[in-house]
Amino acid sequence: MINLVRTKNPMPEQAPQTRIQNFEEVCQGYTEDMAVREAMRCLRCRTKPCMNKGCPTHIHIPDFIAKVAEGDFEAAYKIIQETSCLSPICSRVCPHENQCEGSCVHGIKGQPVAIGSLERFVSDWHAAHHPEEIQEMTPASSNGHKAAVIGAGPAGMSCAGDLANKGYQVTGYETLDVAGGILSYGIPAFRLPKDIVGKQIDMLKAKGVTFVTGSVVGKDCTIDDLINKEGFEAVFIGTGAEVPTSMHVPGEELPGVYTANDFLMKINIDKAYLPEKAGLLPHADKIVIVGGGNVAMDAARCAARMGASKVTVVYRRSREEMPACDAEINEAMAEQIEFCYLTNPVAIKAGPDGRVCKMECIKMQLGEPDASGRRRPVPIEGSNYEMETDCVIMAIGTKMDSIVTGTTPDLATDKYGCIVTDENAATNRPGIFAGGDNVTGPLTVVKAMKAGRTAAAAMDAYISGKSKAQQ
Ligand SMILES: Cc1cc2nc3c(=O)[nH]c(=O)nc-3n(C[C@H](O)[C@H](O)[C@H](O)COP(=O)(O)OP(=O)(O)OC[C@H]3O[C@@H](n4cnc5c(N)ncnc54)[C@H](O)[C@@H]3O)c2cc1C
Ligand code: SF4
Repeated sequence: MINLVRTKNPMPEQAPQTRIQNFEEVCQGYTEDMAVREAMRCLRCRTKPCMNKGCPTHIHIPDFIAKVAEGDFEAAYKIIQETSCLSPICSRVCPHENQCEGSCVHGIKGQPVAIGSLERFVSDWHAAHHPEEIQEMTPASSNGHKAAVIGAGPAGMSCAGDLANKGYQVTGYETLDVAGGILSYGIPAFRLPKDIVGKQIDMLKAKGVTFVTGSVVGKDCTIDDLINKEGFEAVFIGTGAEVPTSMHVPGEELPGVYTANDFLMKINIDKAYLPEKAGLLPHADKIVIVGGGNVAMDAARCAARMGASKVTVVYRRSREEMPACDAEINEAMAEQIEFCYLTNPVAIKAGPDGRVCKMECIKMQLGEPDASGRRRPVPIEGSNYEMETDCVIMAIGTKMDSIVTGTTPDLATDKYGCIVTDENAATNRPGIFAGGDNVTGPLTVVKAMKAGRTAAAAMDAYISGKSKAQQ
């Protein structure tokens, strides 16, 4: 029976006043009843726009939803697993409004089916009913071949997982002391609990993947070392695009000014919010975040949870052009975060103690559209004013690091420093593959996951082809 209600079954969540006191997950997930009721809203459209047009990894959405409606949650999980290896993560962080739910026909006259919430329910239901899953995992039987994966973000994790499933001996090299990439250090725990990321990493280890953490490829060794000295037959580069860009305004180097990456890393990895870690991030009362994307929203929402009395997002265009998802902006607004649109910093100023105490801003107006298609922000001369602040977080974007590309002779890159690949994630250097943000520039978790899986298939074909030729 189809449920003709036009609105989504809302997912229970912590109230804004409660949640800004903690780093626990905001959304609390559907119950079985809620999930079944929501699943019954699906019309099982013949053309499956949610799956074919919306989902970058083409999860069989109407099929898994049909299983949820029947109450067969394990069957639903198996359908999702056919195409997604990170569903507990993607169901929480994918920008569903622009992907599957953005293509759902229900969205034409009402709200789309809550596909992300259903995917999350199914993944969590499976985890809750299979607590022994990791202990029962064993590595696939060895095929006698070795592959290396550089970077343990979603691209590297999915590539490593698929290769391990095929019997490869996989070694993952990771700069940080923990695997997970942005899933571990960037996305806050109130959106993506860290035990969920940890479990995916433990699953990879149970499948036989070895992680060498604290190892910077390009500094501690090179890709050519991995191939020529360590005997890896193929290498995947999944190093992301994590170098923060600078605004080049005076005062950016002052104590109390952070890049969003540094600020989020101190919270997510070093757990600066725990009382015993007090001092890792000096207390700040009036925190300003510069930027308008999802990273800015994450930084602002963390700032609110760190006890600031006022958190302001400063963005140079208007709300309409803001790249952050609506859901993220709305959650931030509910958490009393203020938005100062059409405003741009021109200088950050220090107080007598040498720390940041003010930010000078200029008001902007929108001109003609620029190359991005959004209206260009133009400064209004003479509109400068000062804003009091004791902490500024810059969330204005990131770019590629050149440490790997710069130490890999002849590896082709584009004008932005991104690695150039074909549609199978192969670079111009035989045996070297790449995918994720370091190829596309900063994008999404699901796209990085998909790229890692594409690369794993291509690496398998490359190594198998080579060994057949040698027989
Ligand atoms: C704060 C924040 C919030 C985000 N929120 C979302 C969201 O809600 N939804 C969404 O879909 N996307 C989100 N994104 C984007 C998403 O996280 C990225 O697109 C995705 O993580 C890219 O995956 P990746 O594997 O290519 O790179 P990364 O996740 O960046 O992982 C790359 C890994 O490589 C390692 N590495 C780098 N250089 C080397 C080296 N030389 N040697 C060894 N290891 C190296 C890094 O330490 C890192 O662990 C967010 C990004 C940020 C910063
Ligand atoms: S587009 Fe919406 S209603 Fe149609 S099959 Fe997909 S989820 Fe169901």
